[in-house]
Amino acid sequence: MRITRALRLGVGALALAVVATGCGAGSSKTAAQHAADGKLTVGIKFDQPGLGLRTKDGSFSGFDVDVARYVAGKLGVKPENIAFKEAPSAQRETLIQNGQVDFIAATYSITDQRKEKVDFAGPYYVAGQDLLVRADNTDITGPESLKGKKVCSVKGSTPAQNLAKDYKDAQLQTYDTYSLCIEALKSGSMDAVSTDNVILAGYAAQSPGQLKLVNKPFTTEKYGIGLKKGDKDSRDRINDAIEAMFADGSWKAALDKNFGGTGFQAPQPPTLDRY
Ligand code: GLU
Repeated sequence: MRITRALRLGVGALALAVVATGCGAGSSKTAAQHAADGKLTVGIKFDQPGLGLRTKDGSFSGFDVDVARYVAGKLGVKPENIAFKEAPSAQRETLIQNGQVDFIAATYSITDQRKEKVDFAGPYYVAGQDLLVRADNTDITGPESLKGKKVCSVKGSTPAQNLAKDYKDAQLQTYDTYSLCIEALKSGSMDAVSTDNVILAGYAAQSPGQLKLVNKPFTTEKYGIGLKKGDKDSRDRINDAIEAMFADGSWKAALDKNFGGTGFQAPQPPTLDRY
């Protein structure tokens, strides 16, 4: 009797373990160890033109994609061996903590709050929170003019947090992705979209004459590559790769290529925050 029960329990546990693995519960290897095996899973945005975009044919483009490919290359991984996974703003820490991605390059601001859960290499770019409005709008001129306005941002993002904290007069609505906010702005159900200027510039470039960037950045958003907390080896290697990208001209080339149509000038590369 007892033996059968133990057996049954054992089989049950095994089945559970199989299900857990099948569900994509992550591996315990570090990013550098996965790279040594020749493969990496990288979290990016899928809907942010100029930064992280999955096109209809299933290919990927954008500055974050180029940064991810460069870093992967320095870790010895060929572009075709990178599996890109969508990393919406609110899911980034969880994706890293669960080992579902090796690292994330997805307009991911380095913040102390996030550093309690994940580590960051970088910064590799510094953006600033801004506002996007319809081209014919004249009364939204900066964050101080948002009183009573319907402003869209994304769950789990720093811009949404900043608005909720510092601009309580605005009627903040949070969606899962910025592309949903853009649709709402175009249809007239939102008055503005707020997030980083580079993200907004990418959407504005896709709808010339329809949307315009207010162009008054009011925060500092340092983009880092997020990875598992405590994995110093991978973080050091990713920092080395970012430094190499700054030094050999690839960083500026990637900025020029991806932000070319938006009127954005490539700034100087930021100083890495090695810790
Ligand atoms: N950089 C900001 C953040 O990490 C906004 C962009 C985003 O949501 O990806 O929250």
